[in-house]
Amino acid sequence: MARDKIEGNVKAWFIGGGVGSLAGAAFMIRDGGIPGKNITVLEELPVNGGSCDGGGDPDGGFVVRGGRMMNLPTYECTWALFKDIPSLTAPGMSVYEEILDFNERVKTRAKARLVNRQREKVDVETMGFSFRDRVELLRLTKASEEELGDTKITDWFSPDFFQTNFWYLWSTTFAFQPWHSALELKLYMDRFLHEFYRINTLEGVARTPLNQYESLVLPLQNWLEQRGVRFEYGCRVTDLDIAKEDGLNVVKGIVCERKSAGAAKRERITVGDGDLVFMQNGSMTECSSLGSMKRAPKMLGKDDGSCWGLWERIAEGRPEFGNPRNFDERISESVWESFTVTLKDNAFVDKMVEFSGNKPGTGALVTFKDSNWLMSVVLAYQPHFRKQPEGVKVFWGYGLFPDRVGNFVPKKMSDCTGEEILAEICGHLGFEPTVFAEANCIPCMMPYITSMFLTRAKGDRPLPVPAGTKNLGFISQFVEVPKDVVFTVEFSVRAAQMAVYQILGIDKKIPEVSRYDRSLKIMRLSLRTAYRRGRGPRRSKATEHMEA
Ligand SMILES: Cc1cc2nc3c(=O)[nH]c(=O)nc-3n(C[C@H](O)[C@H](O)[C@H](O)COP(=O)(O)OP(=O)(O)OC[C@H]3O[C@@H](n4cnc5c(N)ncnc54)[C@H](O)[C@@H]3O)c2cc1C
Repeated sequence: MARDKIEGNVKAWFIGGGVGSLAGAAFMIRDGGIPGKNITVLEELPVNGGSCDGGGDPDGGFVVRGGRMMNLPTYECTWALFKDIPSLTAPGMSVYEEILDFNERVKTRAKARLVNRQREKVDVETMGFSFRDRVELLRLTKASEEELGDTKITDWFSPDFFQTNFWYLWSTTFAFQPWHSALELKLYMDRFLHEFYRINTLEGVARTPLNQYESLVLPLQNWLEQRGVRFEYGCRVTDLDIAKEDGLNVVKGIVCERKSAGAAKRERITVGDGDLVFMQNGSMTECSSLGSMKRAPKMLGKDDGSCWGLWERIAEGRPEFGNPRNFDERISESVWESFTVTLKDNAFVDKMVEFSGNKPGTGALVTFKDSNWLMSVVLAYQPHFRKQPEGVKVFWGYGLFPDRVGNFVPKKMSDCTGEEILAEICGHLGFEPTVFAEANCIPCMMPYITSMFLTRAKGDRPLPVPAGTKNLGFISQFVEVPKDVVFTVEFSVRAAQMAVYQILGIDKKIPEVSRYDRSLKIMRLSLRTAYRRGRGPRRSKATEHMEA
């Protein structure tokens, strides 16, 4: 659509209030000159932020479904946007400046990144590669997108590779599973190659001062509100009315259920000539559910939410809108479980600091590499919430294999209550259960959490603005964004910038994806890391030779 046609009284609807949509609305205002009052965000939940969440209170327990690690050398679109968004907690600073300042003060350097079954810190100086592992990794990084196609990671590596330190470090940092997309792993190797040489300490991880809902989403929402953007919560969009005009798909109406006084009312919002719609197709936290200390979380499916159903409905007969079923029908390959623990005393934190050698906020992840659930815990800088009183501490963790029976609790993680998850953590650390005497652990089941890592074929993800579409853009983790990697805030922000710029015809440069994989310095460091030897047991040259 040409820019001259969309100025004036154009209205825009964003379906979904995730960070991607909020970024999209900000790009419309800042770079497209669209007045904020013309923009409405329709969100089915009672809050914005979607997967970038953080809520609760000291008594009921705090919850973050995810704890986000950011990266300062990359996240180009995110930082360029948040340079213009004032912080709500650091007067006079932008969100970006506040994050820079925080990471200058609180530096990450994990001293207990992997812990083994003997409850010992593993020497992670070495990646633990054999000659064959190195050859296979090199082969993957050199493969073209066509060669990688819809293959799995296991198609490219021998079983030993999945026992290397590298695999434990990389897979738990980014949440890869062996059956996930080999193409996505290659994209990650390219995008984050500059982190490979320090993946054992996670020194490249940048954190937000508080949880990401309060440090990123709220300031952005506040900026939009000040410019008149309207937010409608409890509004579930169930369908789009799409007509064919001059061979183009044109959205004419948004069918939704609005909650009022507890009842859902079906309505149709008219999308006028020249008006625009941006939709969040797919969400990694769709149909997630919370448990409690005494209750395991429920396993929900796509019919319990509206996100996947909406995408399926509009993609029916329109292959250019992608193939949602590739992502929403393989829960066993995409599910895992996280948990948030609110502590009303210091017992656990003190023991953890003593064990790991890291103060809260400096250790990033501690992974129990031999745990059946492949469990990790993260002790963020405290306080993690604005409402967190002195003396209350919060930590987060997750298990990548919730369908397996624990090492200390004879139950699948998915069947465990918060209490039982805490017992499993004590087992792996050798701590007395009394460290959790004052703890409230809230588990969270996320059936689609790694759905965007599933093997995919060309066309399964639509373009941010599909060909032959007049007034509809897609903003999510499930669109085609060349060279960028999913499971990041950056991916959604970049997708938003691409969709908005294209539809509004904004003639400004979108920050490029940095190519550290082409830096000689990074290549040299990476090579050195791949051959680095640690202090622990290592394979002999003869074994390596035989394996090769
Ligand atoms: C456990 C976990 C760990 C993570 N770790 C990291 C990390 O380390 N680093 C990093 O950068 N990122 C991380 N992320 C990812 C990051 O949070 C997401 O990529 C990002 O928040 C996705 O934003 P989004 O706006 O695209 O989608 P979402 O946040 O999923 O938002 C979609 C929104 O749309 C709404 N919606 C959907 N359909 C409808 C409908 N039909 N009607 C009305 N509303 C609808 C949903 O309710 C939701 O609010 C993590 C996320 C999680 C959950």
